[in-house]
Amino acid sequence: MNIEKTGAVVIGAGVVGLACARELAGRGVETIIVERHETFGQETSSRNSEVIHAGLYYPTGSLKARLCVEGNRALYAYCAERGIAHRRCGKLIVAASDAQLDYLRTLQEQAAGNGVDDTRLLDAGEAVRMEPALRCAAALHSPSTGIVDSHALMLALLGDAESRGAMFAPNTVVRAIGAGDGAIRLTLDSAGETLLLDADTVINAAGLSAVALARTVPGYPAARLPRAWLAKGNYYALAGRSPFSRLIYPVPEAGGLGVHLTLDLGGQARFGPDVEWIETIDYGVDPRRAERFYAEVRKYWPGLPDDSLQPAYSGIRPKIASPGAPNADFAIQGPAEHGIAGLINLFGIESPGLTACLPLAAYACDRLRD
Ligand SMILES: Cc1cc2nc3c(=O)[nH]c(=O)nc-3n(C[C@H](O)[C@H](O)[C@H](O)COP(=O)(O)OP(=O)(O)OC[C@H]3O[C@@H](n4cnc5c(N)ncnc54)[C@H](O)[C@@H]3O)c2cc1C
Repeated sequence: MNIEKTGAVVIGAGVVGLACARELAGRGVETIIVERHETFGQETSSRNSEVIHAGLYYPTGSLKARLCVEGNRALYAYCAERGIAHRRCGKLIVAASDAQLDYLRTLQEQAAGNGVDDTRLLDAGEAVRMEPALRCAAALHSPSTGIVDSHALMLALLGDAESRGAMFAPNTVVRAIGAGDGAIRLTLDSAGETLLLDADTVINAAGLSAVALARTVPGYPAARLPRAWLAKGNYYALAGRSPFSRLIYPVPEAGGLGVHLTLDLGGQARFGPDVEWIETIDYGVDPRRAERFYAEVRKYWPGLPDDSLQPAYSGIRPKIASPGAPNADFAIQGPAEHGIAGLINLFGIESPGLTACLPLAAYACDRLRD
């Protein structure tokens, strides 16, 4: 069988894989992006809140904190440079009662520890002056949170990668990662045909399938392989115009950030995502789950009309921490962790992966030198 050769392969054309391909190609490496769907961004990268996070929530010193804060600045700059639609709309995290005030203070301290020093605690009056439809005991304002057109972002990343010489190979499934002649050998399936491709470098950015793919690597240390969990987030669209001009978040719940209100660039509001642990990938949105949304949302927006929420879409978080366990950090495993030269595995790239995509890609590529 003919074996093709290249410098690098990125598995997966989500926002992180595309950012990695752009980075590698920018470093002068001959790069192929292999994607099982017919085009880019068909999985988690197009099934999220499209929020440019500020970096408030993640433990100081974690990769999520570092890459999110850096990613926030890098993403605004990149969007401005490339004309990608975005809006620095800001967000309010709202305490429904005085009992939640301590949480806001702790969050503000943590944000400052992460290098986010523009947040401000508002009393109920100040918050309601900003957003008259809101009810709360207090709120934390994050002015550097925003929204982005994730499709346009991915299109720009792919365009950059291609203009730097990368090649996009859609409709191609990576079946296995193995050892080749002094290289990493990928077994690919393209329209039913099996192909072998040797690469010096492989970045496994396969999102929900990243752990399963890493399991095919001969000799991968089993203790390093996390267990993959799926936590679906369901969204419901609001019929009619949004009464808010900023994103509104309650205090977080286990596994997610709470049923928050996000806006798209057209000003349309949607609520979600909730947290539904599932066994197999299924993007269907159960209309009955909206019943719980009404109660959650009315804690901060009592004016939510009856029957105004319509099932919209869902996304699935590629979790590597079990239900009930504390959230895990991004797990970026390079040769230092698994001993295989040239291979980087990206595990658990849930939120804030969209925000962090640019510095995350640079970090992953740097880890190749370990
Ligand atoms: C509900 C939800 C809300 C979120 N909200 C936000 C937010 O507001 N802000 C934020 O910053 N982040 C958010 N995120 C996180 C963000 O969406 C992800 O971190 C990011 O999209 C991950 O990108 P990725 O490229 O790693 O993965 P993906 O987008 O999943 O891409 C992986 C790609 O790999 C391909 N692939 C998989 N296996 C193979 C194979 N064997 N062969 C070939 N191709 C393969 C898939 O088809 C897919 O295209 C959210 C996530 C979820 C689930």
